[in-house]
Amino acid sequence: MVKTLREIIKACCICGAPVHRYNAKYCLRCAKFGARMRTKHFPPATVAAIWAYIKKYGYVCYYTGLPLNLDNDKSPLYLVFDHWIPGDPSKVVICCSFVNEMKSDMTQDEFEDTCCQLADHFRKGTPVVLKPFVYWDRIHPVSGGD
Ligand SMILES: [Zn+2]
Repeated sequence: MVKTLREIIKACCICGAPVHRYNAKYCLRCAKFGARMRTKHFPPATVAAIWAYIKKYGYVCYYTGLPLNLDNDKSPLYLVFDHWIPGDPSKVVICCSFVNEMKSDMTQDEFEDTCCQLADHFRKGTPVVLKPFVYWDRIHPVSGGD
């Protein structure tokens, strides 16, 4: 029996697209993404969790569900890595660059709370009650004056 081209070409173990060469494990997109992750030196468990997320949901933002751009680093939808807890490499998620800029050094809970308060403020005019951000001073140390 003759195999069809689809039967001959292996599928990427992450996204199911055709692999980029006959003995490859990944398609070109996933191979490039894997190389990008290697430059970050994440712990193996973190890398495995990111792959599992992509395998389940695809290249979509963890926070918004928006499809991510993997090619144009000027795009607000460009895929970036977010430390779920700032500075902690044990849980890293993929998200769009504009959300990562907004989240900055907030934890997940701080980010959600702040976003909800801002939405209420924009829609209803309710005041924002700012709670201290646990990791904020990590990148914005108090200078003691200007
Ligand atoms: Zn793939």
